[in-house]
Amino acid sequence: MRPPSAQSHDLAVVGAGAAGLWSALCAGRRLARKQLPPDRLSIVVLDAREKFGAKILMSGGTRCNLTHVEVTPDDFRGGNRNRIARVLRAMSEKEARRIFEEELGLPTKTEPNGKVFPADDSARSVLQALVRGLERHDIAVRGGSRCVDLVPKGDGRWQLHCVDPGGAPLPPLFARRVILGTGGLSFPKSGSDGAGLEMMRRLGHTIVYPVPALTPVVLDSPYHAHLAGIATPVALDYLEDGRSVARCVGPMLWTHFGLSGPAALDVSGLWARTRADRPTIRREVFASFLPEESTESLEARWLESARRHPASTLRTLVTDLPRRLLDTLLEHSGLDPARPLAQTPKDERRRALLALLRFPLPVIDVLGFNKAEVTSGGVPLEEIDPKMESRILPGIHLVGEMVHVDGRLGGFNFQWAWSSGCVAGESAVDALLSPPGGDLTLHTRR
Ligand SMILES: Cc1cc2nc3c(=O)[nH]c(=O)nc-3n(C[C@H](O)[C@H](O)[C@H](O)COP(=O)(O)OP(=O)(O)OC[C@H]3O[C@@H](n4cnc5c(N)ncnc54)[C@H](O)[C@@H]3O)c2cc1C
Repeated sequence: MRPPSAQSHDLAVVGAGAAGLWSALCAGRRLARKQLPPDRLSIVVLDAREKFGAKILMSGGTRCNLTHVEVTPDDFRGGNRNRIARVLRAMSEKEARRIFEEELGLPTKTEPNGKVFPADDSARSVLQALVRGLERHDIAVRGGSRCVDLVPKGDGRWQLHCVDPGGAPLPPLFARRVILGTGGLSFPKSGSDGAGLEMMRRLGHTIVYPVPALTPVVLDSPYHAHLAGIATPVALDYLEDGRSVARCVGPMLWTHFGLSGPAALDVSGLWARTRADRPTIRREVFASFLPEESTESLEARWLESARRHPASTLRTLVTDLPRRLLDTLLEHSGLDPARPLAQTPKDERRRALLALLRFPLPVIDVLGFNKAEVTSGGVPLEEIDPKMESRILPGIHLVGEMVHVDGRLGGFNFQWAWSSGCVAGESAVDALLSPPGGDLTLHTRR
């Protein structure tokens, strides 16, 4: 039997998730914009799974919140603000949306909270649009190719060792440039299990310890299980050593283990990141269940109502919260919800205001990677140059969740995938077309 023959490509994109697919698309678009034929460079996309793009399909409750109407560096954590801003500028949310609509034929819509979805609410349409886009640039995705090792060949090329889903070695593959978009560790059953990060660690990169983010929160309280199923809008204030760090606003859901829903998910990564990096820091989370109110405005309203209706109680005054939640918050603060406000001493009134506007939530943990929408941690931006190329491994670009940048809930993580993928895809093509030592393009086609 003849040994499997080696294949050479100009660019290999490893990982056909959002970041890898967009990198390849932007590579193809770059060639087209330079009016070069698609076969000017040989580009291949590899994915461990036969059915790639699992995370796109499951995203946004299978509706895929593909970006947000307004994206700023403050919507992200991890890297340096200026570096993140620079990456975002290369492919803004408006440009990503324009490409989806005008080039990939995917109409989109904006919801009142600013989240952008495909107009047909179908994540599958997003994946199909991306694949269609790649086909237009003659770029194939090869599923069932798990990359297990990357070896520098000394002649500027990288050798990719890949195995099939059964673990059998596939024919050796060489590439002059590699874009690594193998994701973080969240939802490992979707295909991203941290293998790419481990390869980068072996090859000399620092890996910021990965922790789950955008994941439900575990409480140690006597009341949360009793409140399970109740959802209300909240603002969660996150403090470190008494200093306010972030305010996460949105719906929150009580569960039998603690909290879920957008506001709780947003706080989870901050809490878990600091626990991993600076465990001695005191972390506190306070909830406001009436986020539009301040203690002054709420007290003034209560006093006015009590003046007009002397029998008013906290229960009759606070009508915006489910009774079970209101009673629990007040009783946990040692207050009687049925007591008329007119008979409530000032210090108790003060405690009632704090129970509703600054209720301490005893967070003791967050759920793990199996429940986390995203990973905080990965290759630090300091080890990646402005072309998303590794400063340690020339010819390797890093994109998406591989990088220690994670966004808040609302389409920001896909936007990071589009923006970082664009930078990597375009700069890889530019480098391939004008290498320092002249044009060495490999013409071996897939
Ligand atoms: C349930 C859920 C819902 C989400 N909803 C949203 C949302 O609505 N909006 C939003 O902005 N973000 C959302 N996210 C986050 C978003 O999906 C991710 O941030 C984004 O998909 C990351 O893209 P990526 O390409 O970097 O990684 P991934 O999507 O994880 O893709 C990595 C790919 O690499 C492949 N791979 C891994 N290892 C190898 C290897 N060794 N060799 C070859 N291939 C490999 C995997 O099979 C996978 O296809 C959600 C996440 C989850 C889990």
